[in-house]
This record gives sequence, structure tokens and C-alpha cells, in this order.
Amino acid sequence: MNALVATNRNFKLAARLLGLDSKLEKSLLIPFREIKVECTLPKDDGTLATFVGFRIQHDNARGPMKGGIRYHPEVDPDEVNALAQLMTWKTAVANIPYGGAKGGIGCNPGELSKSELERLTRVFTQKIHDLIGIHADVPAPDMGTGPQTMAWILDEYSKFHGHSPAVVTGKPIDLGGSLGRDAATGRGVLFATEALLNEHGKSISGQKFVIQGFGNVGSWAAQLIHEKGGKIVAVSDITGAIKNSKGIDIPSLLKHVKQSKGVQGFPGGDSLDPNLILVEDCDILIPAALGGVINRENANEIKAKFIIEAANHPTDPEADEILSKKGVIILPDIYANSGGVTVSYFEWVQNIQGFMWDEEKVNNELKTYMTKGFKDVKGMCQTHNCDLRMGAFTLGVNRVARATVLRGWEA
Ligand code: GLU
Repeated sequence: MNALVATNRNFKLAARLLGLDSKLEKSLLIPFREIKVECTLPKDDGTLATFVGFRIQHDNARGPMKGGIRYHPEVDPDEVNALAQLMTWKTAVANIPYGGAKGGIGCNPGELSKSELERLTRVFTQKIHDLIGIHADVPAPDMGTGPQTMAWILDEYSKFHGHSPAVVTGKPIDLGGSLGRDAATGRGVLFATEALLNEHGKSISGQKFVIQGFGNVGSWAAQLIHEKGGKIVAVSDITGAIKNSKGIDIPSLLKHVKQSKGVQGFPGGDSLDPNLILVEDCDILIPAALGGVINRENANEIKAKFIIEAANHPTDPEADEILSKKGVIILPDIYANSGGVTVSYFEWVQNIQGFMWDEEKVNNELKTYMTKGFKDVKGMCQTHNCDLRMGAFTLGVNRVARATVLRGWEA
């Protein structure tokens, strides 16, 4: 199912549970502003290349719009629109004072040199600099982008508006980035998993995990889960998949990935068909890569009892229904992966205060937010007699709806 159709469907189900007025529902659904820009740059060989960039600003009732910028060949306006909407509900679930936005450029960053990526990022920033800002819209990294991308955006933006470190988050530490931001989404996944397991009288130690995706989110989640005694039995990335029923030695895998640029060929495990990773035998499945990967084709074959959505919208609504009938418990993306944007908020606060927190403070505050978030989601599950996805959606949508009504519509 198309990402936007799926996200709209979840939103509408939540709006119904909350009994939202249909006019308010429409105003919450339609994005505040959609930006589409042409980005032309000279390649290293002197020829010209043109890419299409998007920034979709979904909602700002609760504060400046917030969300990542993705560089990926499959970036399309519907997907960016869905991801922007998910950011609105995510920041509301986390209860941080932001709205939601998302950006993306349709490109394959692996095929561009560092200087081509720098030119692309600067051209994109020139096209959108008037529409982002510390109190308007604050980008961050997402798939295919990272601290270096944020450094280029910060530098280009500052040429027009003066030095403004708080205009992006996920920056390098030397430019005002926050300690703990790099690991934050993975650490948030750990705290979210602990909160869920605790409710079921279980702990991380001894549970069998499968992780799809070994980028920033998947590799940090794997490392932290491994440190807590979780047994990671299979891992995949774009290069392939590996399994080891005795548990993969994650520190050795991290060294291998650094040298070989992927999990493929890791000597401490057997290779596995990456298409089968989601249906591997385990207790807890963590999709930490692309959207829509759990769908009606594979939902019936999933063995996990719990799914922790480290990726954005990894589960299609059709799969949600199948899995719920099977009794699989899904911790939804807008709560489970909110650790990244929560520490982005801490970074923004530190930049505005001109003060730097130590890493322990960042991690402790993150734990407080993730634990509170779980309690709030569970509270909505009880109020509306619904699953965790609808618990999170009703929580987020309700907070945004209340802010919207309070602000009023007088022209
Ligand atoms: N790209 C991340 C997400 O999907 C982080 C966004 C942010 O920090 O603003 O939540």
C-alpha cells in the first residue's frame, strides 16, 4: 500500500476514535505547505545533473516544524508527505514543542562524490532557506544524510541569515551538535523495548532479536541491546544478511562493517537470503530500514511475538490486521523511534541556551521522555480500548487537535 494512503488510514481511524469534527480532521490532514524544487549542479566531470528536492511542512500548531532530510532514489512526494505527517504525530507523542516536516532529494548518494553531495546540499539549501528557520522548520538527518550534510546546510543557511546553529539538528559536535544524538534513535529503541518487555514481565536479556537494517539506527540498537544481554540472531543491510543462532558478536560485526562497508562476508555467522530476514525465528523483530517492508505478502510468516518499529512506517495496515489476529504486539514507529527527534530537541535547546549538556544528562533525559511516552500511549490504549498503534496515534492527534483548536481560526 502507498505510504500516504496507509498513514492517512491510520490517522482517520484515530480521528474516529477521538470523535474529531470532520472540518478539523481535514485541516489536520492537509499539509501546511509543500515545497518542490529543482536542484541543478555541475558534476565532477563538468556535465550538469538535475535532481528534484522536496520539503513538506505538515503542521506547526505545537511549534516549529521538525523532521529529517532523506537522500534516496525512491524519494517521492507521497512518501515525503506521509513521513512529514508521521513527524507531526511523533513530536506530539514525545510531547516536545514541535510540529512535523520532512524533506528529501531523489538521488543515490552512493553514486555521488563528496563534493557533488556538498554542491547538491548547498543548492537545495539555497532554494529552501527562506522557508526553514530556528522557529519555523528545523531539518535533521534521515536515511542517506548525516552530520556532514547538516554542517553544509548550516553553513549555507548562515550565509543568508547569520550564524544559526539551531537551524538544523544532528550536527557534528564541533558545530554545536549534542552528545548522544548519534546513538539517540537506537538508544530510544532500547528504552522503548525495555518499557514494553517490562510490562510483560520480561527483560532484554535472553530474548532473541532479528534486526533488519544496520545503518545508524539498526547498528546502535544492536550494540545497546547486545550490551544488555539480548541475543541478536540475524542482521541485514543493503549488502546482504547474516545469521547465527548462538547470537552474533556485535562488537566484531561493527569492526567488520567498518572495514567491508557492510555485513556481507562476516565470518562470525552464516549468510542468509535478505528477503527472508523478517520471517527468521526470533522473539523480537526490529525493522530499522525502509517503509512498507512488513505487508500482506510476509505478515503470516512472521515468527516474532513483538515488533519494535525502529524504521518509519515499516508495517502496512493490511499486515497490522494479520499480525494482530496472530497476537503479535507492535510498538509503533511514532513512539518507538522518537528517541532521535527527542535528542534533536535537546540539541536545539542547548543551541538556544548556548550551553552544552554532558552525555549522561542527555541519556537520562531521553530515558525519562521514552518512559513517559510509553505510559501516555498505554493510557490512550485503555481509554479507547485499542492497540498500541492506535494508542500512539490517538495520543499524538489529540495533542495536535487541542493545540489547533486553542489557537483558533480568526483571519
Ligand atoms: N529523521 C529522524 C526521524 O524520522 C529524526 C528527525 C529529527 O531529528 O528531526 O524521526
